[in-house]
Amino acid sequence: MIRPRHKPLPKGVYHSFVRSLYENRATLLIGMISHAVTFLLVYTRVNDPFFLIATFAVIAIFLVRMVDMRGFDRIDLSGADDVTLRLWEDRYLLGGLCVTMTCGVACAYAVVVTHDAFAELACISVTVASMISIVGRNYGSSRAVAILTAGACGPIFFGLLSLGDFYMSVLAALMIPLVITTWQMAKGVREFLYRNVIAATEIATIADRFDTALNNMTHGLFMLDAQGRVLVANRRATDLLNLDWTAGLKDSHLEVVLKYGMRHSFLDGDQVRQVLRQLAPLLEGLETRTLVPFPDDFYLEFSASRRPDGGTVLIFEDVSARILAERKILNMVRYDALTGLPTRAYFSELVEATIGQGDPDRPVGFLIMDVVDFKHVNDMRGHIVGDQVLVVVAERLRALAGEGAAVGRLMGDEFVVLFADETDRAALDGRMRSLHQQMRGTYTVNGFTFLLTMSAGSVMTAAGTFSFEDVQIKADLALFESKNRNRGGFTAFEETMDEQYVDRQKLKADFQQALEASALAVVYQPMMTPDGLRIECCEALARWTHPERGPVGPAVFIRVAEEMGLVGDVTAFVLRRACTDCLDWPDEMAVSVNLSVADLRNPGFAAKVVQILEETGLPARRLHLEVTEGGFIEDPVKVGTMLQELRARGVSIAIDDFGTGYSSLSYLDTLPLDLVKVDRSFVRNIREDARRFNLLRGVVQLSRELGLRVIVEGVETADQLDLLRSHHCADLIQGYVFARPMPASEVLKLAFVAESKRAIAARKSAPA
Ligand code: C2E
Ligand code: CA
Ligand code: CA
Repeated sequence: MIRPRHKPLPKGVYHSFVRSLYENRATLLIGMISHAVTFLLVYTRVNDPFFLIATFAVIAIFLVRMVDMRGFDRIDLSGADDVTLRLWEDRYLLGGLCVTMTCGVACAYAVVVTHDAFAELACISVTVASMISIVGRNYGSSRAVAILTAGACGPIFFGLLSLGDFYMSVLAALMIPLVITTWQMAKGVREFLYRNVIAATEIATIADRFDTALNNMTHGLFMLDAQGRVLVANRRATDLLNLDWTAGLKDSHLEVVLKYGMRHSFLDGDQVRQVLRQLAPLLEGLETRTLVPFPDDFYLEFSASRRPDGGTVLIFEDVSARILAERKILNMVRYDALTGLPTRAYFSELVEATIGQGDPDRPVGFLIMDVVDFKHVNDMRGHIVGDQVLVVVAERLRALAGEGAAVGRLMGDEFVVLFADETDRAALDGRMRSLHQQMRGTYTVNGFTFLLTMSAGSVMTAAGTFSFEDVQIKADLALFESKNRNRGGFTAFEETMDEQYVDRQKLKADFQQALEASALAVVYQPMMTPDGLRIECCEALARWTHPERGPVGPAVFIRVAEEMGLVGDVTAFVLRRACTDCLDWPDEMAVSVNLSVADLRNPGFAAKVVQILEETGLPARRLHLEVTEGGFIEDPVKVGTMLQELRARGVSIAIDDFGTGYSSLSYLDTLPLDLVKVDRSFVRNIREDARRFNLLRGVVQLSRELGLRVIVEGVETADQLDLLRSHHCADLIQGYVFARPMPASEVLKLAFVAESKRAIAARKSAPA
């Protein structure tokens, strides 16, 4: 059978060859008719009954074969094994052999017995012609070709030989090449077909695997021809694009696919055009990748590779999760999580983009606002309420600023607004001022109501020369002015502020130098008993004389020190100097040193005080420390503990400027205090303002009940002094009425004067 050398025939191939033997039965019918007609014709010519028998024989063989072939039709060929196939091959072969043998024998009979030229010609012609159909029908089985050919040619060969004629013998010999060529032809056809059957099977296998691979991809795929028609689409592609007609995709143009293939009108016409516009550079080979947004936050990333024939392979994947995550991260960077306003960095990006458009000569307004005393909100109500206050402030600011303005949060309680839609400078200035005004008001959060004001700094510039860095510095300078000179006010930037800024930077540098060179001075202001006869204590007050500017007030340089984080060094300097100077004074005199909020925040502060006391040798009982209420607000418990520690060593603690801050009387009870210094604002109108005087008396009374001594500050006139004395309002008096701040050496002189006065007074009051 058709077994190409050394290679077992695949089962499918053997099947198809056996089936080929049983196909095309019409040729068998035609062959049978030709044979029967020929033999009948020869019979009528030579009147030999042999040919009549041959005629009936071919008809009978045909009928038997036909019946047998019907049997072949009934079997299930796909389930047939090799043995069954072989059996059917043999049955076919037997039938075929019967036919060719009949023809061969008829030829031999005509040549050997009949000797009729027509009979010989007719029989040999029809037999040789049948040889052609042997190849055509039986190429599938080499056995069939060999046996059938032999069946036809064998009797002719022997018939011719038997005549004993030279010419006839040569003719007989020529039968051999006929058989060989017939056999070779069949083999050629068979092998050619064999290769095709194998190739077809292989192609089917490859196509099957390709299909499986394609349909299991996580990416969608379209293979398009040069005209943009779909040649191949995988299942993921139809899923991702929500396509309904997989079958109809093939050969449809991509545009048609997107337009009509989508279920539930996933895209409308405009969107399809938009998608195609985005894909165009990919299809033209100008780009290799593009991100296409679809409705409902659905994103597909397409990548394309061009095929040599001008077509394109489009691969796309669902990147929605990635894009949304990226967007979320970007939002976190761009927008402040608390207020939802743009952060400084993103605000500057937005602003630069807005300003780039439109008339470069138009004015642009930049406004920075800072909530006055916001720290107080945090301190009093906690950070959670503080945060919520910022949220409502941001909301109000956004609403009031309106559509044309951009609002951002710079940091903490600082907000920024940019106006770039105004043409008139005066109108722009008015708008910024009115926004600042409107922001002032009550804000309610968690049932707490706050009256808030904002300090504002503004700057105007032409759009064409706008630089974010530059306007922010200028607006900050203006804001700084508001915060310092005009809390809650509005300051428009002026060029001189730049100079002031530079000036202040210089002042800072100079102050640092002075501190490092110990060029600060300390003066002392006595606190005296109301009769003016005894100095109990002196307050140490720092002084700085600038080499060019002359004296700089402590209000200025203490603030500078605070801004530079140097105030702890100032305290240490004054403390050391005060302790040293105090040692020169009479033993019963103490010295009082002012502390800053930063000192109370410093966990090592108490140790520092102890160290200075040890180094200078001043007894702790001769040192007073003055703290303001602001120092307690942040963490009253911690500060209380630290002061208690100092108090335990003998240091006295005074609360300074009492009555100016938040003045909670409860402080007096809960904090470790020895003295209360009533602020000079209580004394100023002591005669005119009875209410204030009563308040002072109340504080004094309460303090005494709590065991605290009262020092009244800022007593300037004899009148004030008299009033305080007559009502026993003070244990000690500090004020110009007795003494101004003075150098340490002057204190000593004053102490002697006081002592002699005291002696005179003692003599006067002594009984004569
Ligand atoms: P303070 O603690 O209230 O100090 C008292 C201030 O009142 C001193 O001003 C003093 O000169 C002034 N004064 C005293 N008697 C009268 C008076 O009868 N009438 C008026 N109008 N004023 C009077 P000075 O020296 O200008 O100090 C201002 C502030 O600077 C001080 O206020 C204090 O808070 C701060 N300061 C001064 N030296 C230091 C220091 O060494 N460290 C710290 N942290 N702050 C200091
Ligand atoms: Ca003080
Ligand atoms: Ca004071």
